[in-house]
Amino acid sequence: MIRAALLLCAGIIIAACFACTPALSPPPPPLGAALRPLTLVAQGCNPNDPGILGDPTKPGSFAPLVAMITPNYDPSSFSPPTVDGANLPTAQMQADLKAAFIAAPMSLRTALCSLDGIYIDPGSSGESWGFRTPLDPAHPATPLKRYIGLSASLWNPGPSAVPFHQYESQLLQWTLGNWSSAYFPGNFADPADSSQITVLAALAHEYGHIFWYDKFKPAGTYPSGTFDPGTPGTPGNPGDFCSGNFYVSWRRPVFAPPPWRTFGQIDVVRGTTNPTNEHLNAGENVSVATLYTDINSQNDANLFTDLRKLYGTSGRWASALAALSPDEDFVETFELSVLRHATPPVQSLALTIFYNNRAYQGGDVPGDDQSGNKTELGSKEACFSNLYLTPGR
Ligand SMILES: [Zn+2]
Repeated sequence: MIRAALLLCAGIIIAACFACTPALSPPPPPLGAALRPLTLVAQGCNPNDPGILGDPTKPGSFAPLVAMITPNYDPSSFSPPTVDGANLPTAQMQADLKAAFIAAPMSLRTALCSLDGIYIDPGSSGESWGFRTPLDPAHPATPLKRYIGLSASLWNPGPSAVPFHQYESQLLQWTLGNWSSAYFPGNFADPADSSQITVLAALAHEYGHIFWYDKFKPAGTYPSGTFDPGTPGTPGNPGDFCSGNFYVSWRRPVFAPPPWRTFGQIDVVRGTTNPTNEHLNAGENVSVATLYTDINSQNDANLFTDLRKLYGTSGRWASALAALSPDEDFVETFELSVLRHATPPVQSLALTIFYNNRAYQGGDVPGDDQSGNKTELGSKEACFSNLYLTPGR
């Protein structure tokens, strides 16, 4: 469920980076901080009141509700987060959160305002997270709670959140087991290569995990007893997301994720190295089994080949992470659809791969997608298209 680790050691991401503590010095305790509630209710925000960009006197209704979480909180415990009443997000964090909310499509603003809490997590893991509390069988009537925590390391070195290309480069490298030969160079002339889009991307990704549970486990249990995304092309169960047409890239049956999705995790059948879920043998034809082997072995030649396929024009994934598991495919495709409907929209993210002392173009998922070159990815994205029916967005 975790995504969004921003490992802030510039350039090469190495294992030691996991120990990096976000170098944010907390601001002095604000007056009245002790009066803040222990758990935040985000429902106080209004999708139609996003604030005014560049005007600190018009913060809007979203950013002021985002609180700092207490240090050492473990989201995988699914316990309710608690607010650090002694600290507030920095002024630049609040400005970036406001800008991200302004950039968000109306549907995502509405979704974020429906959550039970959104936080900045100063935890040393560097990971953002999002979850819906599991159903308590002993108390099935207990409302399910939904929370997002953005890693404070998004704002390291700060004061602004890192630009979008840097954020995506770090995530890709982490997905590949810290393989540092692939990155997105970015484009400083692109208004979407910004801090606000980084924050929006992290929010969209983490909300995507909550969205997955709301779609496939609406009341806290799978309607069919086990995860069943439906039969492609067969409307059947009215609850089938996108009439079962989302998981076109995966062999049937598609197996459910573990309760806590660790970033970059490839699920394997217990006692084996065989992936639980595998791609349909089509498209660019890079199997999960191949990715599992190549990421673990850090084989340069193989990873180079894999990435060229995953990100090539015929690639069918929003990202390499999307190719690792069906749920991350759902989440990353949702995130891409949000970013393509953002203001400003993400229209390009070109990949560069270094191999044998040469730089190669690795593909441009949003660019190829926008050009209509990604048929399968486009069909998956279309599953989210009814989220953008609000006029103008
Ligand atoms: Zn994720």
